Formats: sequence, C-alpha cells, structure tokens
Amino acid sequence: MKDMQDLAYWKELASRVPLRTKAYIDGEWTDSVDGHTFDTVNPATGRTIAAIAACGVVEVDRAVAAARRAFQEGVWAHAPRSVRKATLLRLAALIEAHQEELAVLETLDMGKPISETMGYDIPETARTYAWYAEAIDKIYDEIAPTGPNVLATITREPVGVVGAVVPWNYPLLMASWKLAPALAAGNSVVLKPAEQSPLTALRLAELAEEAGIPKGVFNVVPGLGAAAGQALGLHPDVDCIAFTGSTATGKRFLQYAGESNLKRVWLECGGKSPHIIFDDCPDVDRAAQAAATGIFSNQGEICIAGSRLYIQSSIYDRFMDRLEAIAMAMQPGDPLDPRSPMGAIVDAAQMDRVLSYVRAGKEEGARLRLGGDRVLADSGGYYLQPTIFECQSQNLSIIREEIFGPVLTVTRFDTEAEAIRMANDSPYGLGAGLWTANVSRSHRVSRMLKAGLVWVNCYMDGDVTVPFGGVKQSGSGRDKSLHAIDKYTDLKTTWINLI
Ligand code: NAD
Repeated sequence: MKDMQDLAYWKELASRVPLRTKAYIDGEWTDSVDGHTFDTVNPATGRTIAAIAACGVVEVDRAVAAARRAFQEGVWAHAPRSVRKATLLRLAALIEAHQEELAVLETLDMGKPISETMGYDIPETARTYAWYAEAIDKIYDEIAPTGPNVLATITREPVGVVGAVVPWNYPLLMASWKLAPALAAGNSVVLKPAEQSPLTALRLAELAEEAGIPKGVFNVVPGLGAAAGQALGLHPDVDCIAFTGSTATGKRFLQYAGESNLKRVWLECGGKSPHIIFDDCPDVDRAAQAAATGIFSNQGEICIAGSRLYIQSSIYDRFMDRLEAIAMAMQPGDPLDPRSPMGAIVDAAQMDRVLSYVRAGKEEGARLRLGGDRVLADSGGYYLQPTIFECQSQNLSIIREEIFGPVLTVTRFDTEAEAIRMANDSPYGLGAGLWTANVSRSHRVSRMLKAGLVWVNCYMDGDVTVPFGGVKQSGSGRDKSLHAIDKYTDLKTTWINLI
C-alpha cells in the first residue's frame, strides 16, 4: 500500500526516476554536436542531478529546419482536426498517467514542494492539453458581411514555426500554456526550457511521441539562454516567439526580432503585483491566508506573486498579527516531503539575489518584521525563511523591483485613492488583488487597477478558461483561454468576386 503522504515514498521514487539528458530534434535523441553539456542541480541539496546536452546555434538550426519541414509537409498542420484532437487528448491522458513521475522530476529539478507539483502543476498541465484539444473542432472561421456579389472569408491559419522559451518557476506548465494552443492551431514548435529545469520538457517530448505527434512537429533544445535562447530569437525561419521570463530578457527578444525577420514576439514577463486589503474585508482570516500563500507559495517564485501588500490603517494591526502567524508556519522544508509548505529556491544565484534584496531592504530603512535568513544550510540546499518587511516609503528597491523570492513588503494606507495610486505606481502590470465587502468599490477599484488580472476577495485563482498576462512591462499577448489561439494563427482574408 503506497503512502503518498510519506516522505519515504517520494524519496524512493526520486531515487529511481529515469532522466532524459539529450536534446529531442526531429524525433531523435541527440547530443550537442560539440558534446557540450550543462549541469542541472537539485536545489534541495545543491548536488548535480544530471549533465544535459547544451544546444546552440547548430542544434537550434536543425530543430527549426525539422519543424519547418514538418510544417510544409502538412503532417500536422493539415492533418484532420479529429486527428490533432485525438493526439492531444492522448497526450493529456499520458501526462495524467505519469503524474507522479513528472511531479517528482519537477520537484527534484526546481525545488518546489511535491504537494504543489502533484496538486497543481502536473494536473493543470494535463488539463491544458485536454482543453485545447477539445477546442480544435469548435472554432469556426468567418464570412464578412460584404455586398451580394462577393464572398469574403476570414480564415485562421497556423503561423508556422513557433519558438517557445520558458522559465524555471513552473517549467512544464509554462511550456504547456504555449505548446497546447500552438499545437492545437497546427504549428510546429521548438521548445527551449530554462537551464535550471530541463527534465520535464524532455520527458514531455517522449510522451508527445508516444501520443503520436509526428516527427519534427515538436522539438526540445535544452541549453543556456545566451546560446539556445538567442539562437531561436535570432533565427530567420522562426515565425513567432512565445516567451515567458524576466522583463530584461523579454526586451532582448524584441531586439532579436528587429535584428532578424521581424518575427512576432509574445511576452509574459515580470510582475510586482499589489494586493489591497480594505477595512471592510469580508473575511480577515481568508484574506491573511491568501496574502501569505500569494507570496510564499512556490517560494515566492511566481510572476503573479502578491509581493506588495497594502492594508487600510484601521485593520492594519489585526491583519498583520494574523498574517505573521500564518507566515511563521510556512517554513521551508525538503521539497519531497508532502508536509513542506515551502521548498528550496531554484539555485544559489537566485538565493543570493533574494538575500541581496533583504540586505537592501534593511539598509533602505524598511522594518524587518519576519524572517530574512537562509536556513537548513547543512542540507546543501537553498532555503529561505518567509520574510516580511513593513515599509513607510514606496521608494525602496524592495517595493519597486521584482525579487522573485519569499519576500513581502507591507504598507498601510488611509483612503481608496491612496491605495489605487500606490498599487499603480509600478513599471509592471501583471496581477492585482483587493478585498472588500462593498460591491461598488470592488468594480470601481478593479477598473482603476492597471493589471492584466484582478482578483476580488481571493488571490491567484483561475483556470485555463481565462486569459493570463499583463500590461506595461509585464508583457503582451495572453496565455490560456481561446484568446491564446490568436497568438499562433494569422488571419487570411479571401475576397471572392462572384461574377
Ligand atoms: P529569464 O528571463 O532569466 O529566463 C527565461 C528564459 O529565457 C530561460 O529559458 C532562459 O534560458 C532564457 N534566456 C535568458 N537569457 C536569454 C538571452 N539573453 N537570450 C535568449 N534567451 C534567454 O527568467 P527566469 O529567471 O527563468 O524566470 C523568472 C522570470 O520569469 C521572472 O521575471 C518572472 O516574473 C517571469 N515569469 C513570468 C510569467 C508570466 O506569465 N508573466 C510566468 C512565470 C515567470
């Protein structure tokens, strides 16, 4: 009888889970031409898990050529919709069937708790493929309302070769938010996973092959950003880049497009999302819980993390006491332990970056209310305490810059206008949350917040049916929902004169 609540169960699985270390190009597993590799490291121990093929210009070129050939042959793009649908449904079922294996790989590779990979990342990935598979035969083209002697059709066509470049915080899910709509629309895809977390992308390639996705339609080129990522961004035969990652790298992809073939570039970038608690908050306990999980789940490595908390003065003290108690209980632990509320930070560089912000917060005069230290260092892993700063000024680097770690800033406010002004005072515009029992205020404030996603009386809720993405320097275009299909299709107008 297996006990999935038992650390020993997951450790045993982790000790024997097979690892794929080669690139997957044109249906073949291949080393890089020069034999170069990079190490992927377990953040829970600091030890290398495996050496992975490091792709560069040559491998990316081969993958793009395979994707183009497959696209032109029409093996996928022109396959009957029923075939594409059945194939993606099979892929969803295979992901479900291999949920434990994929969850363990993701947890080993990037340090997030097994409870999250089992409870969210992998099931949500399977749902994403199933949902877009189901959409394939439900999207209709259009006929324009022209005069009687004309038939003008507006049809969607796949763009061709899509390059997907993704980060390490939700490795498989972020990739799948690109892959599922791109494949559903009939494109070929070359995926570049983050160098910190290539393992699930490589396993996905195997499952995609088993599901029946034809050779060349889906390729995976693991490698460093400045090598494989740049090669995809600059490639003259890539039609579209779907990117998730930092704003700085997103800007580079726009440059790459300008320097090469003006490929379209869709960006899901950074965030510094405000979370506002009004004094008529309908449920302080739930709001405090949401404020804590909004920044401390996934170790704070979430683009939509509610990293800036604003609390109305009259409930400030009561709310902070509750929040502090919840946060204190969210200490990090072994990511393979189902009871760990937080896991390990993805790598040493990211841990050092977060700690440098903790130092900056102290130096800039914010009051450290909770945490701020590395813990469990004997394990060799990169564990940080949940950390809370109370801030008097908005002009602090910990309030203005994305930290991407378990660090929350808290500021008090008096009026609605003040809360809105502080919330919008950011170069980012990804998520925003507010808690109020006043229906009018919930609509009014939601409209005023400059963000792609607004949550009222919850935080970070959502599913595949709704668009996901940001405004300002948080990016352009949307993942999820039927709107994502727009990114991977071109509209063609055909004007037929009925002579
Ligand atoms: P990153 O920008 O460093 O890397 C993202 C991807 O880009 C990786 O695959 C990386 O190898 C590649 N890359 C890096 N440098 C490159 C270069 N010079 N040329 C081409 N490719 C390059 O981001 P990260 O540290 O992996 O992820 C964290 C960031 O991702 C945060 O800013 C976070 O907010 C953002 N993110 C955004 C969303 C969203 O939906 N908006 C979701 C998750 C993460």
